[in-house]
Amino acid sequence: MVKNEILIVDDSEINRSMLHLMLEDEYEVTEAENGAEAIAIIEKGDHIFRLVLLDLVMPVMDGFCFLQELKNRKLQQQLPVIIISGDTSEESLDRAYGLGAVDFFTKPFNPSIVNHRVQNVISLYAHSYRDILTGCYSRNGFIQVVENFLQRAEDVSKYSVIFYDLKNFKATNSLMGIDGGDFVLKHVSKGLINSELEPLFVTRLEADHFVCLAESEKIDYEAMMRDNGAIINVHGKPLQVRFRMGVARIDSLAPIAGYMDRAKLALNYIEDEYLKPYAEFDEKMAENYVNAAVVTSDFETSLENDEFKVYYQPVMEAATGKIASAEALIRWIHPDRGFVRPDLFIPVLEKDGYISKLDLFVDLKVTSVLKEWKEQGLPTVPVSVNLSWMDFYDEDMIRFILERLKSNKSAPGSIRYEITESSFAALKENRGDVLREMQSLGAWLLMDDFGSGYSSLGMLMNYKFNILKIDMSIVRKLEEKPEVPHIVELIINMCHHLGMKVVAEGVETESQLNMLKKAECDYIQGYYFSKPLPEAEFKEFLARCKSEQKIVEYKE
Ligand code: C2E
Ligand code: MG
Ligand code: MG
Repeated sequence: MVKNEILIVDDSEINRSMLHLMLEDEYEVTEAENGAEAIAIIEKGDHIFRLVLLDLVMPVMDGFCFLQELKNRKLQQQLPVIIISGDTSEESLDRAYGLGAVDFFTKPFNPSIVNHRVQNVISLYAHSYRDILTGCYSRNGFIQVVENFLQRAEDVSKYSVIFYDLKNFKATNSLMGIDGGDFVLKHVSKGLINSELEPLFVTRLEADHFVCLAESEKIDYEAMMRDNGAIINVHGKPLQVRFRMGVARIDSLAPIAGYMDRAKLALNYIEDEYLKPYAEFDEKMAENYVNAAVVTSDFETSLENDEFKVYYQPVMEAATGKIASAEALIRWIHPDRGFVRPDLFIPVLEKDGYISKLDLFVDLKVTSVLKEWKEQGLPTVPVSVNLSWMDFYDEDMIRFILERLKSNKSAPGSIRYEITESSFAALKENRGDVLREMQSLGAWLLMDDFGSGYSSLGMLMNYKFNILKIDMSIVRKLEEKPEVPHIVELIINMCHHLGMKVVAEGVETESQLNMLKKAECDYIQGYYFSKPLPEAEFKEFLARCKSEQKIVEYKE
């Protein structure tokens, strides 16, 4: 790790040299002959000083003026100053403290006192750039030191940013308590700092994320894999510590936050967390990448500019191949970025609280399209709209949905909502009754992505659904593992017993279709029949189905 830097400002060469000698083992020391020179060094930005040792009486610019200059630049919060003057008159000291100095030494200097006080003051101010728990840099401290380091590096392309995500840290916290969780974080940061990677700078971000800067040639995935999954002892209990890593190689001197984002983005592309829990950022990821800040800032104007389009994916009856319904899926056609995948912007909108606006937009759009087609005598099917867990925290959204259902005069099931298990917490907290109310007003509820997470069963036990959608990840495995068709058959059986119909999502091949038919799956959604279609194409699709009598008729 890199040493902390100290700036000594004194016109006496002897004083500077003495202090320099006392401190140089522990710190990186720079000298200035007067206040003006010191300000120039600080402004140049080649150094990140953690402390200034300041003489008061100097030519050109004295210590008082220097303190005033620091104050003007608002640097005092992060750069403490200790006075090292022979002038210890009450008046001078009062004036220096008044200008923001934090401590003073008198001459002659006692090496032990100097070292201890320097250390104390530096650690007192460390909270502005350190993470108190682990002693790693804070996010701001990390950005500051890394950017400074890279500016001076001969060849920035030798370095990489590595983003670590601890697995199941929330569970660790609840199993082991906050103390246990803290212990794990400290352990991980120490292990990381002392690893063969020899990172130059390490920071901890939101709870269980660590980021470091290291030399790319020291990245050894095999060695990292060996460390991954180690069992450690947390207050007498064994715990396995696993992590995932995203790596971004630095290619030019750009803001480090961008590389941190890239490394984090690479994390999202990890496909097998056990065999290969790491991924390196590449340009393909960049093409898909819309930075969270862009999503947030562009969202409202994009919505106004009609850049969001609703697509419709047909859902077919398994036994007959007739179209039975459709799912509304949002698409963002961004003027600069082109087609943006929903999984890249929906999580961002959920974080920012904008998602309900988008879901509302989809709901309104679907309603008006279906109404228009019906009025024109065109064929329609019920279309389901996805609801985010956020919607259940949004009173306006809930009120709107209920109003819409109250004013709707069509048959039960003509309005449908898809809900995933991620809504479980929100529903449990304050909105469990909403689902029952929606159903009593004629809406059908679809349990989306069944089997992709852990609490789908909890959802089924607490709420009643009309239709269950088996997640694509399970359909994918139908042909891979002999047990899977049996599991799927049992799920379908269970649903039928509970009075639910079943949709299989993501069906792409005939063999998947046949297995699902054999398991008595009711409906099929997937590329095998159709991709999600823009409105006009969906209209044609429906017309074709109608003319071939391949449409399930609903009585209204
Ligand atoms: P979902 O609700 O599970 O939607 C099904 C996803 O599977 C869609 O992805 C669809 O395009 C994709 N898919 C369907 N059949 C196949 C197939 O045969 N092969 C493959 N590879 N994929 C298939 P999409 O449109 O990218 O949407 C992703 C997720 O984004 C959706 O998953 C849903 O959770 C969310 N989403 C989409 N639109 C909205 C919306 O309007 N509001 C909210 N809150 N979420 C939405
Ligand atoms: Mg869905
Ligand atoms: Mg789904």
